[in-house]
Amino acid sequence: MIILNKISLKFGLWFLGAMLILEVCLFFFLHTSIVGSRIEEELNALQARGNSHRDVLENAYNKETLHHIAVMEANAETEVIITDLNQNMIISSSKVDGEERKIISKKIKKVPRDGLIMETRWKSEKYISTVTPFSINENQQGYIYMFRSTDQIQSLISKLNRHFITGAIMIFFLMIITILLLSKVLITPLIRMKQATEKLSKGDFSVNLPDMGNDELGELSRAIKILAEDLKHLKEERSEFLASISHELRTPLTYIKGYADVSRRKNLNQAEREQYLGIIYEESEKLSDMIKDLFDLAKLDRNNFVINRMEVELCSFLLSIYEKVLPAFKEKGMDLKIYSHKNVHVMMDPMRFEQVLFNLLDNAIKYSEPHTTTCISMKREKGKILIEIRDEGHGIPEEDIPFIFERFYRVDKSRSRSTGGTGLGLSIVEELIEAHGGQIEVKSELGKGTTFLIKVEEMIE
Ligand code: ADP
Repeated sequence: MIILNKISLKFGLWFLGAMLILEVCLFFFLHTSIVGSRIEEELNALQARGNSHRDVLENAYNKETLHHIAVMEANAETEVIITDLNQNMIISSSKVDGEERKIISKKIKKVPRDGLIMETRWKSEKYISTVTPFSINENQQGYIYMFRSTDQIQSLISKLNRHFITGAIMIFFLMIITILLLSKVLITPLIRMKQATEKLSKGDFSVNLPDMGNDELGELSRAIKILAEDLKHLKEERSEFLASISHELRTPLTYIKGYADVSRRKNLNQAEREQYLGIIYEESEKLSDMIKDLFDLAKLDRNNFVINRMEVELCSFLLSIYEKVLPAFKEKGMDLKIYSHKNVHVMMDPMRFEQVLFNLLDNAIKYSEPHTTTCISMKREKGKILIEIRDEGHGIPEEDIPFIFERFYRVDKSRSRSTGGTGLGLSIVEELIEAHGGQIEVKSELGKGTTFLIKVEEMIE
Protein backbone atom coordinates (compact mmCIF):
# COMPACT_ATOMS: atom_id res chain seq x y z
CA MET A 1 0.00 0.00 0.00
CA ILE A 2 2.86 2.33 0.86
CA ILE A 3 4.33 1.64 -2.57
CA LEU A 4 0.96 2.32 -4.19
CA ASN A 5 0.95 5.73 -2.56
CA LYS A 6 4.54 6.36 -3.43
CA ILE A 7 4.31 5.43 -7.09
CA SER A 8 0.94 6.98 -7.79
CA LEU A 9 1.87 10.13 -5.87
CA LYS A 10 5.10 10.45 -7.81
CA PHE A 11 3.39 9.70 -11.09
CA GLY A 12 0.47 12.00 -10.27
CA LEU A 13 2.69 14.88 -9.20
CA TRP A 14 4.89 14.65 -12.29
CA PHE A 15 1.89 14.45 -14.55
CA LEU A 16 0.08 17.26 -12.74
CA GLY A 17 3.19 19.45 -12.83
CA ALA A 18 3.72 18.86 -16.54
CA MET A 19 0.06 19.48 -17.33
CA LEU A 20 -0.05 22.63 -15.19
CA ILE A 21 2.99 24.11 -16.93
CA LEU A 22 1.40 23.26 -20.27
CA GLU A 23 -1.92 24.72 -19.22
CA VAL A 24 -0.39 27.94 -17.87
CA CYS A 25 1.69 28.44 -21.05
CA LEU A 26 -1.31 27.75 -23.26
CA PHE A 27 -3.64 30.05 -21.30
CA PHE A 28 -1.05 32.81 -21.17
CA PHE A 29 -0.54 32.64 -24.92
CA LEU A 30 -4.27 32.49 -25.61
CA HIS A 31 -5.06 35.32 -23.18
CA THR A 32 -2.41 37.70 -24.54
CA SER A 33 -3.33 37.05 -28.14
CA ILE A 34 -7.08 37.45 -27.50
CA VAL A 35 -6.57 40.67 -25.50
CA GLY A 36 -4.04 41.99 -28.05
CA SER A 37 -6.32 41.41 -31.00
CA ARG A 38 -9.31 42.83 -29.10
CA ILE A 39 -7.45 46.09 -28.37
CA GLU A 40 -6.22 46.22 -31.96
CA GLU A 41 -9.81 45.81 -33.17
CA GLU A 42 -10.95 48.65 -30.88
CA LEU A 43 -8.18 50.95 -32.05
CA ASN A 44 -8.89 50.16 -35.70
CA ALA A 45 -12.60 50.82 -35.19
CA LEU A 46 -11.78 54.12 -33.45
CA GLN A 47 -9.47 55.15 -36.25
CA ALA A 48 -12.04 54.15 -38.91
CA ARG A 49 -14.64 56.24 -37.10
CA GLY A 50 -12.26 59.24 -37.07
CA ASN A 51 -11.57 58.70 -40.78
CA SER A 52 -15.29 58.65 -41.59
CA HIS A 53 -15.77 61.93 -39.64
CA ARG A 54 -12.88 63.34 -41.70
CA ASP A 55 -14.66 62.36 -44.93
CA VAL A 56 -17.87 64.04 -43.76
CA LEU A 57 -15.99 67.19 -42.71
CA GLU A 58 -14.02 67.38 -45.96
CA ASN A 59 -17.28 67.15 -47.90
CA ALA A 60 -18.92 70.00 -46.13
CA TYR A 61 -16.82 71.91 -43.65
CA ASN A 62 -19.18 74.19 -41.77
CA LYS A 63 -20.57 74.72 -38.30
CA GLU A 64 -23.49 72.41 -38.85
CA THR A 65 -21.37 69.51 -39.90
CA LEU A 66 -19.11 70.05 -36.89
CA HIS A 67 -22.12 70.18 -34.62
CA HIS A 68 -23.64 67.17 -36.27
CA ILE A 69 -20.46 65.12 -35.65
CA ALA A 70 -20.35 66.23 -32.01
CA VAL A 71 -23.99 65.26 -31.48
CA MET A 72 -23.45 61.89 -33.14
CA GLU A 73 -20.55 61.08 -30.83
CA ALA A 74 -22.41 62.35 -27.77
CA ASN A 75 -24.79 59.43 -28.20
CA ALA A 76 -22.06 56.86 -28.89
CA GLU A 77 -19.59 55.01 -26.64
CA THR A 78 -16.77 56.96 -28.20
CA GLU A 79 -15.91 60.65 -27.93
CA VAL A 80 -14.57 63.12 -30.43
CA ILE A 81 -12.57 66.35 -30.17
CA ILE A 82 -11.96 68.37 -33.30
CA THR A 83 -9.06 70.87 -33.21
CA ASP A 84 -7.44 73.28 -35.59
CA LEU A 85 -3.89 72.87 -36.86
CA ASN A 86 -2.48 74.32 -33.62
CA GLN A 87 -4.42 71.71 -31.64
CA ASN A 88 -6.85 74.31 -30.23
CA MET A 89 -10.21 72.69 -29.62
CA ILE A 90 -12.99 73.66 -32.06
CA ILE A 91 -15.69 71.32 -30.80
CA SER A 92 -16.05 68.22 -28.61
CA SER A 93 -18.79 65.63 -28.12
CA SER A 94 -18.68 65.93 -24.33
CA LYS A 95 -16.97 67.80 -21.58
CA VAL A 96 -13.22 67.53 -22.06
CA ASP A 97 -11.31 66.20 -19.05
CA GLY A 98 -7.67 66.44 -18.06
CA GLU A 99 -6.70 63.15 -19.68
CA GLU A 100 -8.19 64.15 -23.00
CA ARG A 101 -6.55 67.50 -22.77
CA LYS A 102 -3.19 65.82 -22.16
CA ILE A 103 -3.60 63.77 -25.32
CA ILE A 104 -4.65 66.65 -27.59
CA SER A 105 -1.80 68.80 -26.32
CA LYS A 106 0.78 66.13 -27.25
CA LYS A 107 3.03 67.42 -29.98
CA ILE A 108 2.35 65.70 -33.28
CA LYS A 109 4.49 66.05 -36.35
CA LYS A 110 3.39 64.58 -39.62
CA VAL A 111 0.19 62.61 -39.37
CA PRO A 112 -0.65 60.30 -42.26
CA ARG A 113 -3.99 60.79 -43.95
CA ASP A 114 -5.44 57.66 -42.37
CA GLY A 115 -4.42 58.79 -38.94
CA LEU A 116 -2.26 57.72 -36.00
CA ILE A 117 -2.78 55.89 -32.78
CA MET A 118 -2.20 58.25 -29.89
CA GLU A 119 -2.73 56.06 -26.86
CA THR A 120 -2.80 52.29 -26.54
CA ARG A 121 -2.13 51.79 -22.80
CA TRP A 122 -5.53 50.47 -21.88
CA LYS A 123 -4.41 49.19 -18.49
CA SER A 124 -3.05 52.45 -17.02
CA GLU A 125 -4.76 55.24 -18.98
CA LYS A 126 -8.33 56.44 -18.98
CA TYR A 127 -8.68 56.46 -22.78
CA ILE A 128 -7.35 54.81 -25.85
CA SER A 129 -7.18 57.31 -28.63
CA THR A 130 -6.45 58.00 -32.32
CA VAL A 131 -6.01 61.14 -34.39
CA THR A 132 -6.93 61.79 -38.05
CA PRO A 133 -6.03 64.98 -39.93
CA PHE A 134 -8.61 66.70 -42.16
CA SER A 135 -8.02 69.07 -45.06
CA ILE A 136 -10.05 71.50 -47.13
CA ASN A 137 -8.94 72.02 -50.72
CA GLU A 138 -5.75 70.08 -50.06
CA ASN A 139 -4.87 72.39 -47.14
CA GLN A 140 -4.70 70.69 -43.80
CA GLN A 141 -7.17 72.36 -41.46
CA GLY A 142 -6.98 70.43 -38.22
CA TYR A 143 -7.30 67.13 -36.40
CA ILE A 144 -10.08 64.80 -35.34
CA TYR A 145 -9.21 63.12 -32.03
CA MET A 146 -11.19 60.00 -31.19
CA PHE A 147 -11.38 58.58 -27.66
CA ARG A 148 -12.75 55.47 -26.14
CA SER A 149 -12.91 54.97 -22.42
CA THR A 150 -10.70 52.10 -21.17
CA ASP A 151 -13.28 51.31 -18.44
CA GLN A 152 -15.34 49.41 -20.99
CA ILE A 153 -12.28 47.59 -22.32
CA GLN A 154 -11.20 46.73 -18.81
CA SER A 155 -14.58 45.32 -17.91
CA LEU A 156 -14.53 43.36 -21.17
CA ILE A 157 -11.08 41.96 -20.34
CA SER A 158 -12.07 41.14 -16.77
CA LYS A 159 -15.06 39.24 -18.16
CA LEU A 160 -12.63 37.35 -20.39
CA ASN A 161 -10.39 36.70 -17.38
CA ARG A 162 -13.35 35.25 -15.48
CA HIS A 163 -13.98 32.87 -18.39
CA PHE A 164 -10.36 31.88 -18.41
CA ILE A 165 -10.31 31.23 -14.65
CA THR A 166 -13.49 29.11 -14.84
CA GLY A 167 -11.96 27.19 -17.76
CA ALA A 168 -8.67 26.71 -15.90
CA ILE A 169 -10.44 25.42 -12.78
CA MET A 170 -12.51 23.00 -14.84
CA ILE A 171 -9.45 21.75 -16.70
CA PHE A 172 -7.58 21.39 -13.40
CA PHE A 173 -10.31 19.15 -11.97
CA LEU A 174 -10.53 17.21 -15.21
CA MET A 175 -6.78 16.73 -15.05
CA ILE A 176 -6.97 15.40 -11.48
CA ILE A 177 -9.70 12.96 -12.50
CA THR A 178 -7.63 11.87 -15.54
CA ILE A 179 -4.54 11.40 -13.38
CA LEU A 180 -6.49 9.33 -10.86
CA LEU A 181 -7.91 7.16 -13.63
CA LEU A 182 -4.55 6.85 -15.38
CA SER A 183 -2.74 5.93 -12.20
CA LYS A 184 -5.40 3.32 -11.56
CA VAL A 185 -5.00 1.86 -15.04
CA LEU A 186 -1.19 2.04 -15.09
CA ILE A 187 -0.12 1.71 -11.49
CA THR A 188 -2.54 -0.92 -10.22
CA PRO A 189 -1.15 -3.66 -12.51
CA LEU A 190 2.37 -2.69 -11.45
CA ILE A 191 1.41 -2.95 -7.78
CA ARG A 192 -0.20 -6.34 -8.39
CA MET A 193 2.93 -7.57 -10.13
CA LYS A 194 5.10 -6.23 -7.33
CA GLN A 195 2.94 -8.05 -4.78
CA ALA A 196 3.15 -11.21 -6.91
CA THR A 197 6.95 -11.08 -7.00
CA GLU A 198 7.02 -10.47 -3.24
CA LYS A 199 4.90 -13.59 -2.82
CA LEU A 200 7.31 -15.48 -5.07
CA SER A 201 10.30 -14.36 -3.05
CA LYS A 202 8.59 -15.69 0.09
CA GLY A 203 8.21 -19.06 -1.61
CA ASP A 204 4.49 -18.82 -2.35
CA PHE A 205 4.16 -19.70 -6.03
CA SER A 206 0.36 -19.41 -6.28
CA VAL A 207 0.58 -16.24 -8.36
CA ASN A 208 -2.77 -15.13 -9.70
CA LEU A 209 -2.34 -12.25 -12.13
CA PRO A 210 -5.17 -11.29 -14.49
CA ASP A 211 -4.62 -11.05 -18.23
CA MET A 212 -3.21 -7.58 -18.88
CA GLY A 213 -3.36 -7.38 -22.67
CA ASN A 214 -0.59 -7.39 -25.23
CA ASP A 215 1.39 -4.33 -24.20
CA GLU A 216 4.62 -4.27 -22.16
CA LEU A 217 2.65 -4.63 -18.90
CA GLY A 218 0.89 -7.71 -20.28
CA GLU A 219 4.24 -9.17 -21.31
CA LEU A 220 5.68 -8.49 -17.88
CA SER A 221 2.74 -10.15 -16.16
CA ARG A 222 3.03 -13.19 -18.43
CA ALA A 223 6.77 -13.37 -17.71
CA ILE A 224 6.04 -13.31 -13.96
CA LYS A 225 3.47 -16.09 -14.36
CA ILE A 226 5.96 -18.20 -16.31
CA LEU A 227 8.61 -17.48 -13.68
CA ALA A 228 6.20 -18.58 -10.94
CA GLU A 229 5.43 -21.82 -12.76
CA ASP A 230 9.12 -22.49 -13.41
CA LEU A 231 10.00 -21.83 -9.78
CA LYS A 232 7.16 -24.06 -8.62
CA HIS A 233 8.34 -26.80 -10.96
CA LEU A 234 11.94 -26.34 -9.79
CA LYS A 235 10.92 -26.50 -6.16
CA GLU A 236 8.89 -29.65 -6.73
CA GLU A 237 11.72 -31.17 -8.74
CA ARG A 238 14.20 -30.32 -6.03
CA SER A 239 12.15 -31.85 -3.24
CA GLU A 240 11.48 -34.93 -5.38
CA PHE A 241 15.17 -35.14 -6.18
CA LEU A 242 16.14 -34.85 -2.52
CA ALA A 243 13.57 -37.49 -1.59
CA SER A 244 14.95 -39.78 -4.32
CA ILE A 245 18.54 -39.23 -3.21
CA SER A 246 17.81 -40.06 0.38
CA HIS A 247 15.83 -43.10 -0.71
CA GLU A 248 18.54 -44.23 -3.12
CA LEU A 249 21.30 -43.78 -0.57
CA ARG A 250 19.31 -45.50 2.12
CA THR A 251 18.90 -48.78 0.17
CA PRO A 252 22.60 -49.72 -0.17
CA LEU A 253 23.25 -48.38 3.32
CA THR A 254 20.57 -50.68 4.73
CA TYR A 255 22.26 -53.62 2.99
CA ILE A 256 25.67 -52.57 4.26
CA LYS A 257 24.43 -52.10 7.78
CA GLY A 258 22.44 -55.35 7.76
CA TYR A 259 25.24 -57.51 6.32
CA ALA A 260 27.87 -55.86 8.51
CA ASP A 261 25.73 -56.75 11.49
CA VAL A 262 25.35 -60.35 10.33
CA SER A 263 29.09 -60.68 9.56
CA ARG A 264 29.92 -59.78 13.15
CA ARG A 265 28.18 -62.87 14.46
CA LYS A 266 30.59 -65.36 15.98
CA ASN A 267 28.92 -68.54 14.72
CA LEU A 268 29.51 -67.74 11.02
CA ASN A 269 31.82 -69.87 8.92
CA GLN A 270 34.47 -68.38 6.67
CA ALA A 271 32.48 -68.89 3.42
CA GLU A 272 29.37 -67.14 4.80
CA ARG A 273 31.42 -64.25 6.15
CA GLU A 274 33.15 -63.81 2.77
CA GLN A 275 29.80 -63.84 0.98
CA TYR A 276 28.43 -61.10 3.26
CA LEU A 277 31.58 -59.05 2.99
CA GLY A 278 31.31 -59.39 -0.81
CA ILE A 279 27.78 -57.95 -0.68
CA ILE A 280 28.97 -55.11 1.56
CA TYR A 281 31.77 -54.38 -0.91
CA GLU A 282 29.36 -54.43 -3.88
CA GLU A 283 26.92 -52.10 -2.14
CA SER A 284 29.67 -49.69 -1.16
CA GLU A 285 30.84 -49.68 -4.78
CA LYS A 286 27.32 -48.84 -5.86
CA LEU A 287 27.14 -46.10 -3.25
CA SER A 288 30.41 -44.57 -4.41
CA ASP A 289 29.25 -44.81 -8.07
CA MET A 290 26.06 -43.00 -7.16
CA ILE A 291 27.89 -40.29 -5.27
CA LYS A 292 30.23 -39.82 -8.24
CA ASP A 293 27.24 -39.53 -10.61
CA LEU A 294 25.51 -37.08 -8.28
CA PHE A 295 28.64 -35.03 -8.11
CA ASP A 296 28.83 -34.94 -11.93
CA LEU A 297 25.19 -33.88 -12.13
CA ALA A 298 25.70 -31.17 -9.54
CA LYS A 299 28.60 -29.81 -11.59
CA LEU A 300 26.48 -29.91 -14.75
CA ASP A 301 23.68 -28.08 -12.93
CA ARG A 302 25.94 -25.31 -11.80
CA ASN A 303 26.99 -24.78 -15.42
CA ASN A 304 30.63 -24.90 -14.45
CA PHE A 305 31.21 -28.18 -16.13
CA VAL A 306 34.14 -27.41 -18.38
CA ILE A 307 33.84 -28.84 -21.86
CA ASN A 308 37.24 -28.87 -23.52
CA ARG A 309 36.29 -29.12 -27.15
CA MET A 310 38.85 -30.21 -29.67
CA GLU A 311 38.86 -31.59 -33.14
CA VAL A 312 38.33 -35.34 -33.02
CA GLU A 313 38.42 -37.84 -35.87
CA LEU A 314 35.30 -39.81 -35.10
CA CYS A 315 36.20 -43.17 -36.67
CA SER A 316 39.39 -43.66 -34.66
CA PHE A 317 37.67 -42.28 -31.56
CA LEU A 318 34.83 -44.83 -31.84
CA LEU A 319 37.34 -47.60 -32.56
CA SER A 320 39.27 -46.82 -29.39
CA ILE A 321 36.06 -47.03 -27.37
CA TYR A 322 35.10 -50.23 -29.16
CA GLU A 323 38.41 -51.78 -28.11
CA LYS A 324 37.99 -50.67 -24.53
CA VAL A 325 34.48 -52.08 -24.06
CA LEU A 326 34.70 -55.23 -26.22
CA PRO A 327 36.07 -57.40 -23.35
CA ALA A 328 33.04 -56.51 -21.17
CA PHE A 329 30.68 -57.61 -23.98
CA LYS A 330 32.64 -60.81 -24.55
CA GLU A 331 32.55 -61.54 -20.83
CA LYS A 332 28.76 -61.54 -20.93
CA GLY A 333 28.75 -63.66 -24.11
CA MET A 334 27.60 -60.71 -26.25
CA ASP A 335 28.94 -59.35 -29.48
CA LEU A 336 29.82 -55.75 -30.37
CA LYS A 337 30.14 -54.43 -33.93
CA ILE A 338 31.18 -51.09 -35.33
CA TYR A 339 30.48 -49.39 -38.67
CA SER A 340 31.96 -46.00 -39.32
CA HIS A 341 32.94 -43.60 -42.11
CA LYS A 342 36.50 -42.42 -42.15
CA ASN A 343 37.65 -38.83 -42.01
CA VAL A 344 34.69 -37.40 -40.13
CA HIS A 345 35.73 -34.62 -37.83
CA VAL A 346 33.71 -33.17 -34.98
CA MET A 347 34.44 -30.68 -32.21
CA MET A 348 33.98 -32.44 -28.89
CA ASP A 349 35.43 -33.08 -25.48
CA PRO A 350 36.71 -36.66 -26.00
CA MET A 351 36.71 -37.45 -22.25
CA ARG A 352 33.07 -36.39 -21.81
CA PHE A 353 31.94 -38.04 -25.01
CA GLU A 354 33.66 -41.23 -23.96
CA GLN A 355 31.61 -41.07 -20.74
CA VAL A 356 28.44 -40.73 -22.86
CA LEU A 357 29.25 -43.77 -24.97
CA PHE A 358 30.40 -45.81 -21.97
CA ASN A 359 27.10 -45.14 -20.19
CA LEU A 360 25.07 -46.15 -23.27
CA LEU A 361 27.16 -49.25 -23.95
CA ASP A 362 27.07 -50.18 -20.28
CA ASN A 363 23.25 -50.05 -20.45
CA ALA A 364 23.34 -52.23 -23.59
CA ILE A 365 25.29 -54.83 -21.60
CA LYS A 366 23.04 -54.51 -18.52
CA TYR A 367 19.75 -54.74 -20.39
CA SER A 368 20.59 -57.43 -23.02
CA GLU A 369 20.89 -61.17 -22.87
CA PRO A 370 24.00 -63.18 -23.92
CA HIS A 371 24.31 -64.07 -27.65
CA THR A 372 22.88 -60.74 -28.74
CA THR A 373 24.76 -58.15 -30.77
CA THR A 374 25.16 -54.47 -30.06
CA CYS A 375 26.11 -52.16 -32.89
CA ILE A 376 27.91 -48.82 -32.90
CA SER A 377 27.43 -47.05 -36.22
CA MET A 378 27.96 -43.60 -37.60
CA LYS A 379 26.46 -41.86 -40.63
CA ARG A 380 26.00 -38.39 -42.10
CA GLU A 381 22.57 -36.85 -42.53
CA LYS A 382 21.69 -33.29 -43.58
CA GLY A 383 25.05 -31.91 -42.49
CA LYS A 384 24.82 -33.65 -39.12
CA ILE A 385 26.61 -36.67 -37.78
CA LEU A 386 24.44 -39.42 -36.34
CA ILE A 387 26.00 -41.86 -33.91
CA GLU A 388 23.80 -44.87 -33.24
CA ILE A 389 24.06 -47.42 -30.43
CA ARG A 390 21.66 -50.26 -31.22
CA ASP A 391 21.21 -53.31 -29.00
CA GLU A 392 19.03 -56.40 -29.20
CA GLY A 393 18.14 -56.27 -25.53
CA HIS A 394 14.93 -56.21 -23.48
CA GLY A 395 13.73 -52.91 -24.91
CA ILE A 396 11.89 -50.20 -22.98
CA PRO A 397 8.08 -50.16 -22.59
CA GLU A 398 6.53 -47.33 -24.62
CA GLU A 399 5.03 -45.64 -21.56
CA ASP A 400 8.47 -45.44 -19.89
CA ILE A 401 10.34 -43.96 -22.86
CA PRO A 402 9.48 -40.28 -22.12
CA PHE A 403 10.91 -40.59 -18.61
CA ILE A 404 14.12 -42.55 -18.97
CA PHE A 405 16.28 -39.41 -19.08
CA GLU A 406 14.89 -38.29 -15.71
CA ARG A 407 17.06 -38.63 -12.66
CA PHE A 408 16.68 -41.91 -10.75
CA TYR A 409 14.16 -43.20 -13.27
CA ARG A 410 14.37 -46.95 -13.72
CA VAL A 411 12.03 -49.04 -15.79
CA ASP A 412 12.39 -52.03 -13.52
CA LYS A 413 11.24 -50.55 -10.23
CA SER A 414 12.23 -53.67 -8.30
CA ARG A 415 15.85 -53.01 -9.29
CA SER A 416 17.25 -56.51 -9.18
CA ARG A 417 20.59 -56.21 -7.50
CA SER A 418 22.43 -57.68 -10.46
CA THR A 419 21.30 -55.08 -13.02
CA GLY A 420 20.26 -52.20 -10.79
CA GLY A 421 22.18 -49.10 -11.78
CA THR A 422 21.95 -45.67 -10.24
CA GLY A 423 19.19 -44.42 -12.57
CA LEU A 424 21.40 -41.39 -13.20
CA GLY A 425 23.35 -42.62 -16.23
CA LEU A 426 20.98 -41.37 -18.94
CA SER A 427 20.38 -37.99 -17.30
CA ILE A 428 24.15 -37.45 -17.28
CA VAL A 429 24.28 -38.57 -20.92
CA GLU A 430 21.54 -36.11 -21.92
CA GLU A 431 23.14 -33.19 -20.10
CA LEU A 432 26.55 -33.92 -21.60
CA ILE A 433 25.14 -34.14 -25.13
CA GLU A 434 23.26 -30.86 -24.64
CA ALA A 435 26.42 -29.24 -23.30
CA HIS A 436 28.00 -30.24 -26.63
CA GLY A 437 25.11 -28.58 -28.50
CA GLY A 438 23.84 -31.97 -29.70
CA GLN A 439 20.63 -33.98 -29.26
CA ILE A 440 19.85 -37.50 -28.19
CA GLU A 441 16.81 -39.59 -29.17
CA VAL A 442 15.70 -43.05 -28.25
CA LYS A 443 13.69 -45.69 -30.09
CA SER A 444 12.83 -48.93 -28.47
CA GLU A 445 10.66 -51.98 -28.97
CA LEU A 446 9.92 -54.31 -26.10
CA GLY A 447 11.67 -57.64 -26.56
CA LYS A 448 13.50 -56.49 -29.70
CA GLY A 449 15.99 -53.87 -28.59
CA THR A 450 16.80 -50.23 -28.06
CA THR A 451 18.49 -47.64 -30.26
CA PHE A 452 20.03 -44.42 -28.96
CA LEU A 453 20.71 -41.80 -31.62
CA ILE A 454 23.12 -38.95 -30.98
CA LYS A 455 23.15 -35.97 -33.38
CA VAL A 456 26.15 -33.64 -33.48
CA GLU A 457 27.42 -31.01 -35.90
CA GLU A 458 30.12 -32.07 -38.32
CA MET A 459 33.21 -29.91 -38.44
CA ILE A 460 33.60 -28.58 -41.97
CA GLU A 461 37.20 -27.82 -42.94
P1 ADP B 1 20.49 -47.16 -14.79
O1 ADP B 1 21.63 -46.80 -13.93
O2 ADP B 1 19.34 -47.74 -14.05
O3 ADP B 1 20.87 -47.93 -16.00
P2 ADP B 1 19.96 -45.08 -16.67
O4 ADP B 1 19.64 -43.64 -16.44
O5 ADP B 1 21.20 -45.39 -17.41
O6 ADP B 1 19.93 -45.74 -15.25
O7 ADP B 1 18.74 -45.72 -17.41
C1 ADP B 1 17.41 -45.50 -16.95
C2 ADP B 1 16.54 -46.67 -17.26
O8 ADP B 1 16.35 -46.77 -18.65
C3 ADP B 1 17.15 -47.97 -16.85
O9 ADP B 1 16.78 -48.29 -15.55
C4 ADP B 1 16.58 -48.96 -17.84
O10 ADP B 1 15.37 -49.48 -17.37
C5 ADP B 1 16.27 -48.15 -19.07
N1 ADP B 1 17.31 -48.38 -20.10
C6 ADP B 1 18.38 -47.62 -20.37
N2 ADP B 1 19.10 -48.11 -21.39
C7 ADP B 1 18.45 -49.24 -21.80
C8 ADP B 1 18.69 -50.22 -22.83
N3 ADP B 1 19.73 -50.13 -23.65
N4 ADP B 1 17.79 -51.22 -22.93
C9 ADP B 1 16.74 -51.30 -22.13
N5 ADP B 1 16.46 -50.43 -21.14
C10 ADP B 1 17.31 -49.40 -20.96
